[in-house]
Amino acid sequence: MIKALKREKLDISEESLLTLAKKYEAVWQDDMVKINILPAEVYCKATEHVDDMIEMIKKIKEKGFSYESDSCVYFDISKFKDYGKLARLKLENLEAGARVEVDKEKKNPGDFVLWFKAVGKHEKHIMQWDSPWGEGFPGWHIECSAMSVKYLGEQFDIHTGGIEHVPVHHTNEIAQTESSSGKTPWVKYWMHGEHLTLAKEKMSKSLGNVFLLDDLIEKGFDPLAFRYLCLGSHYRKQMIFTLESLEGAQNSLNKLRNKVLELMQRDEGERAVEDYIERFQAAINDDLNMPQALAAVWDMVKDEEVNSKERYDALIEFDRVLGLGLDDIKSLEIPEDVQRLLEEREHARLNKHWNDADAIRDKIKEKGYIIDDGAKGPVLKRV
Ligand SMILES: [Zn+2]
Repeated sequence: MIKALKREKLDISEESLLTLAKKYEAVWQDDMVKINILPAEVYCKATEHVDDMIEMIKKIKEKGFSYESDSCVYFDISKFKDYGKLARLKLENLEAGARVEVDKEKKNPGDFVLWFKAVGKHEKHIMQWDSPWGEGFPGWHIECSAMSVKYLGEQFDIHTGGIEHVPVHHTNEIAQTESSSGKTPWVKYWMHGEHLTLAKEKMSKSLGNVFLLDDLIEKGFDPLAFRYLCLGSHYRKQMIFTLESLEGAQNSLNKLRNKVLELMQRDEGERAVEDYIERFQAAINDDLNMPQALAAVWDMVKDEEVNSKERYDALIEFDRVLGLGLDDIKSLEIPEDVQRLLEEREHARLNKHWNDADAIRDKIKEKGYIIDDGAKGPVLKRV
């Protein structure tokens, strides 16, 4: 945060910190809307829950899982029987966390800080709160334990997060929460998402290859094409991002939207759709296997023997999971040759072949359709 304050030429103060946090929170909220992620019921902020964290640290202390030094209150991992169970860590192999320098005050190298006292190198820490251990600020892990217990209870079903949090952050969250509540397991299912990577190198600010959602929109992509791309890989597998794969996702999404238009206007086919609904449900119930669910979607929309109205209804129902905004699509019948031209024009446009794109646009117009490049991708309208 302090680096960011310097980058944005703001003064180093608590007020600027909060302004900066609010600015990026708003950007993030905007992006969530653009990719159709439903809002949470509660957006809790760590800085507004320091009292809850202090209460939890007090409980951990009462139950004998912590000790205090001149500079910190530590969690004593040797007191917590199952420490490291999530990551299957072996206690004797544990190294001290790399994020905080090895501290001579620690009893075990893996012990972690619950509360930093505002002394020594932390004396001038920007944000400080009063606590039973003096002025200071909470450790890196306690906020998640305190806030989740407050809003979800001492035990709940699902905790998500990035794969990098397994060995330290989530391991420490479990130790804190289960030692303070005395209830185990705190969480029934951990769902850890793998990372998005680039084909040749990792995405990083220093390499200058970071894409923001707005950069993709500027390149002419629909934000929901990025969502479609994500649905195409399982959350536990690394997703390799390329602009070519995003273009493929954009085309597939456009095709799916046109299928919606087509299906909503027809009533053909005899067979019932049930098999596909079962396939879709089985896929999402199998640890959210979205690639398989998408495969079921495509097999269904292409299966001409199944009644088109039933296929349409099932697709709209599936979209409650897919979140591709399929029920927003207005009706219009588009002939196949025009559809093909539209795909060619999308290809030309995304590759910045503007002359080709314009020429194809004219051809489409000759056939009686104009292209409207809306936020939801190109939509054809009658001339
Ligand atoms: Zn957390």
